[in-house]
Order: sequence, then C-alpha cells, then structure tokens
Amino acid sequence: MYRLDYKELGLIVGLEIHQQLDTETKLFCNCPARIVDNPEGSPVIIRRLRASRSELGEIDPAALFEYQRGRLFKYLAPPEVTCLVELDEEPPHPINREAVIIALAIAKALHASHVDEIHVMRKIVVDGSNTSGFQRTAVIALGGYIDDEEGVVRIQSVTLEEDSARKLGEEDGTVIYCLDRLGIPLIEISTGPDIHSPEQAERVAYKIGMILRLTGKVKRGLGTIRQDLNISIKGGSKIEIKGVQRLELISKVVEYEAYRQYRLLQLRNEILRRGLDKNGISEETLVDVSSMLRESGSKLLRSVIERGGVAMLLPLRGFKGLLGWDLGPGRRFGTELADYARQWGGVRGLIHSDELPGYGIDEALLKKIYGSLGLDMEKDAFIIIADQKEKVLKAFKMVIERIKMAFEGVPRETRAVNEDGTTHYMRPQPGSARMYPETDIPPLRITNELLREADKYVPEPLEVKMKRFIEDHGLSRELAEQVIRSRYLPLYEELVSKYRGNVQPSLIASTLINTLKSLRAEGVDTDSLSEETLGEIFELLSKGMFSKEAIPDIIRYVCEKRVRPSKAIEDLGIRKLSSEEVEKIVEDFIEKNRLEVVKRGDKAYGYVMGRVMEILRGRADGKIVSEIVRRKLSSIKAE
Ligand SMILES: [Zn+2]
Repeated sequence: MYRLDYKELGLIVGLEIHQQLDTETKLFCNCPARIVDNPEGSPVIIRRLRASRSELGEIDPAALFEYQRGRLFKYLAPPEVTCLVELDEEPPHPINREAVIIALAIAKALHASHVDEIHVMRKIVVDGSNTSGFQRTAVIALGGYIDDEEGVVRIQSVTLEEDSARKLGEEDGTVIYCLDRLGIPLIEISTGPDIHSPEQAERVAYKIGMILRLTGKVKRGLGTIRQDLNISIKGGSKIEIKGVQRLELISKVVEYEAYRQYRLLQLRNEILRRGLDKNGISEETLVDVSSMLRESGSKLLRSVIERGGVAMLLPLRGFKGLLGWDLGPGRRFGTELADYARQWGGVRGLIHSDELPGYGIDEALLKKIYGSLGLDMEKDAFIIIADQKEKVLKAFKMVIERIKMAFEGVPRETRAVNEDGTTHYMRPQPGSARMYPETDIPPLRITNELLREADKYVPEPLEVKMKRFIEDHGLSRELAEQVIRSRYLPLYEELVSKYRGNVQPSLIASTLINTLKSLRAEGVDTDSLSEETLGEIFELLSKGMFSKEAIPDIIRYVCEKRVRPSKAIEDLGIRKLSSEEVEKIVEDFIEKNRLEVVKRGDKAYGYVMGRVMEILRGRADGKIVSEIVRRKLSSIKAE
C-alpha cells in the first residue's frame, strides 16, 4: 500500500551500522565492557549541558535545540563497570588494542584499506549521552565494498568509537543515564549512498551484520547492534533515521520514509496549487480559546484550563484537509506538527480541526469556534494546544516554523524509529563542524604485528566454508549453499560447535532452513522466534529431552503460545521416555494383545512396532524401541 516505484522516485539509502565488540575492557579505560543488571542504588552525578560555540564560532543547531530544552542529566555510575574516565574526571587511556585488532579484521573482510595511523577525534554529542559532551571516534579503514545482487555497495569507512551512556528514562525534565555502556567499543560501518530499494537496504544490513558475527568477536543480544539510515528521494531531503535495533524492520523503515517524503512533496504541490499565504501564518494570529473550551467534553482540556493553563488556537486559512494529509500508517501532517510541539514545547500534543469533531469537541462547539473566529468550515483549519502558557507559546513557535517548511517540501531532520517502522521527529540535523582532535590520546601506528593478530578473526571465505560444510559436516551441496545464503549462518556455526557431539549438523541445518520454511508456509510466525530460543531447542535435544521428530511441533507451539521450548515439551507431552518407561509400555502392549502377537508369529515385530510407536508419539527413538520390541518378542518365543 505504501510501496512506490523506487527507480522513478530516485530513492537513495545509506546505512550506518553500529555493533558492540566483544572485548574484555572498554575502549579508553580498563573497566569491564559489560552492562549491569541492576544499576539502581549506584552513585549518582548530575550535570547540565551547555551549548558552547565551536572553534569556528557557530553554535550547532542540534546543540542549541538540546540547550533550549533545558534538561538536566542524571548519571548512575555502577562502581564495578565505571571509573573516573567515564565520569570525565580523568583523561582517557590509550586506545584498546583488542578492539583495534577486531576492527582491522572487520575492515579486511569488507575489503577496506586500513589507515597508517589511528587518530582519535572528538565528535560533539548533544543529548547528554556522553558525560564529556563528545564521543571519541577513530577511523580504522576506508574504501571497501560489499557485493549485492542489485549492485556493489561501497563501504565508505570503518570506524571505532565509544558507545554512549545507556538511557534509563526521563522524568520531569531530567534524563537518567547509566554509565555502564559508556566506553564499550563500537564498530561503525558506513556504506556509500548506493542502496536503491527497501529490500536491498535490509539485505545489505544482514550481510554486514553476518560478517561482523562471523568474526566471533561481537556482542550479542538486543541493543548490541543499531542501525542508522540516511534516506532521500529526488526533490526530498537526506533524512537521518536513528536507532533501528531490529534488522527485519529496515525495509519497512525505508518504505515508510520514501512514502513520507513523496507525500510531503505532494503536500507542497497542493499548498502551492491552493495559493496559500505563508506570511499569514504567525504567532500574532494566536487566539486564547480557554473560555470557549472550558465547556468542552474533554476532561484533559478542562483540567489543563482549571489548573491555570491556557488553550490557544492557531487559525490556518485555506488549510482544510491538509492537517489530516496522510504521510504513512497512523501518520498525518498533523502528527508531524505534534512532534514539533512535543519536542520543542514539552507539551503533550495538539488537536487539529481535521480530526474534529472528537476529543470532547462536538459538532456544536466546533461550529461555535469556527463562527467566533470568522473562519470558513469548508476551507479553513486550525490547531489547538493546551498547557502552561509559556510551553504553549514555545510549541506554537516551532509548529508555525514547521508549517512554513511544508511550503518548501521535506525539512532536513534527524528522526527516531517507532516500533512499527514509522518514524518521528527527534531534532534538527547537526551542523558539520563537529569533529576535532582528541589531544589526550597519542596516535597508534598500525604495525604488521597488529595486522597478523587481526588475521585470526577475519571470517573464513565463503567457498572455504562451503567445502567444510560438505566434507566435514556432511551436508548436501544444496543444503550447504542454503545455509551459507541464510541469515542463520552464524547461528548454524555456533550450534554445530556447541552440540555436534549429540546432534547431527545436517539436522541443525535442515531445521534452520527446511523446517522453518515449511512452518512459515503453514502460516506459523517463525519471525518471532529468537536465535536464543532456537539455541535452547537444540540444547534440550542434545540432552535427550525429546526426539528429533518433535522439533516442528515444538517450534510451532513456541511460536503460537509464546512460551519457552521447555514449557512446550511439557505441554505437548513429548518429553522423552527413559528406556525403562519404554520397556514398560512395550510389555503392557504385548500383555494386552498376547493372542494377536502369538497368532502373527514371526510377523509380530512389524505389528507391535507400528502400534507402540503410535502410542509413544515421538517420545522415544525408533532405534531404542525396536531393540526393546525385538528383545521382548524373542523372550515370548522362548517361553
Ligand atoms: Zn572506566
């Protein structure tokens, strides 16, 4: 529904992939590189951010934005994973050698050329997520590429940087961060603007993610990999989208953003077609409608006004229908304006006339509002914001600016991703003067010794892997090829190395490839299956908790009921029986059907085996059952 012809649209996407490296210690100190479970009760420090001028004398728009929001930052510093470096009370130590080695390995796998010397730089960050007000970052390599069926995608740079503090929440204008994550080494891989479809964006992200994982030296789990996307269409703007944590969301994010830009350009055309007056939209036209809305059916509006707040209205002549202008699933032009109101004014949101009657404003009140302001119900629109007056004015100032931007098209913004793949306004894009050298850290020469150590982590070439899967793991050529092309390649390798003693590699491969595929075809939501869950299934299998025939049933049950595999085994009654239990079942069966068994004589085996396997429903291995049945039958004969 939101899909467009991306060629005609001139869609351009670039990716920035951030992945935590699995090192012992942090990038610029000796604290362990790990997240703590329970930071509550840790020592706390409080800071306020200042917008200082850069060396070129200009104030960064993104920094100014944060400064104007006037927030305080509260940092929790768990002593086991933080020191004076995270608190910015002590200079950083030299760069972590292990992280450099892993980064060099990744650079090599991406065919990028390493720099001769690593120079650490400071990059201004404005959201308080670094105690120092900047993030340390160092280019490791430049100019690689990754192959893709829609064309080669260039790798612009491979960079090593420190992860930011972990945001725990926000209350009453104070943002709370935990410093455990600050300083964990991150690799950042930036592609060129060479991606031209939503599917390609997702595919390339997977490919890069896979190379990272195949080094065996990256952290795993939610939040350890984060993607930023730069997306534009012809005539639109390069929009930065931050913080996509799930790779499978990427194609949706691209699809929705292309649609949003396309619809904003159509909105501009409609505004121009209607010949609307940009200069007429101004704070001077704001009207206080508190007294009128005091009688509305909206509890929210009434309580704001009763608590001394105001409800202000901005008339928008000729805008009828444009505030409700569709920009994607659940997103309208009014939603974009509400984002600005929230982010700049700290208000809860806004009400616009294209969504009325509603929100406790009925037809009669709506008519009254239109009438008393001399507006035309057929043509005009308006926006209402209710809160403390100061906040309302702040919010309207930016809402008006945003409406004016619609006369031009797509404003340059940094946006954040929502759960469903749509995005919301986060802040203006930072200016370019954001980097300067970190003088506390000496440059590091890339020596042959470092490069030799890096070679240990460069992932094995795919043709070598293929050969190994066929010759050593015993996979068919077809299955080996499928595994190598699959997103489960790293998982497959991990599971084989863990459970090989008890589980055949071919069973692992065919489960990840064929079983999941046929379950998907049945309509089972296998995308909801985490790798951790799949790993658990094989762990239980390797312990002999159930027989391999039950794997599809377990996966189906886990996906449908959202339970752990151990619970599925319990509920499905497929826990594997011990030999004693099987023996008891076989004995009982023969006892009850003695006449039939005796009558069949030498042919009794097939009969008993078939019926007992039915009773067992996969709770025992055929081989073991067969042995027991033979033994029991021969003892009958001997009688
Ligand atoms: Zn530290």
